[in-house]
Amino acid sequence: MTENKKTDLLEKGAIIQRDGETYAIAPHTPAGLLTPAILRNIADVAEKYDLAAIKISSSQRIVLIGLKEEEIDSAWKDLNMDPGAAIGVCVRSVRACPGTTFCKRGKQDSMSLGLKLDEKYHGMATPAKMKLAVSGCTLSCSESLIRDIGFVGDTNGFKCYVGGSAGAMPRIGDLVAEGLSEEEALAMTEKIICYMKEKNSKKRIGKYIDEIGLDEFKTGAGI
Ligand code: SF4
Repeated sequence: MTENKKTDLLEKGAIIQRDGETYAIAPHTPAGLLTPAILRNIADVAEKYDLAAIKISSSQRIVLIGLKEEEIDSAWKDLNMDPGAAIGVCVRSVRACPGTTFCKRGKQDSMSLGLKLDEKYHGMATPAKMKLAVSGCTLSCSESLIRDIGFVGDTNGFKCYVGGSAGAMPRIGDLVAEGLSEEEALAMTEKIICYMKEKNSKKRIGKYIDEIGLDEFKTGAGI
């Protein structure tokens, strides 16, 4: 007997749930910034489709849980938002803390850098899953040290950490640069992502660094 098991629907940005029947969708909310209108709209959609739950994700998204397969297209239409890159092999997320825009501890403008990174890279196809984060000070509320590319602000600019990840075997990113301006941080990100695309490694950056060594990675990426 052939098992007709449902899976994620990548093209619809829909994630199969534990019940094996319903789906979750997660609209793109750059840097986790929301407006009253977005929240009202999400609440209206949640009520209309009688969702099981609305859940905040670790990627600064609001996840709508419990859609039937036949409801996914109309729910997206009602939301009138783009899907977040919650699944697939790509730049999944760019987290950013409030930084100098709102936070009294902020040393650098993490919102500005985060939004620029999001605009350029969110959803971009990459050989392996990639997560980015920007924190406005060394408290690192965006957990920049456990992201593939993470920035941390201090009084001198941004520090750049590469190869961090969470998961079952967490890895702290390697510090590869400091004192970066926003422009330099963007250029650094471009070099790293281009290098990983050129190498076409299916490993996440940290594992790739462990394989070839940090010096060779830095030389290869030109950083
Ligand atoms: S990392 Fe620093 S600037 Fe960002 S939210 Fe945390 S305390 Fe504020």
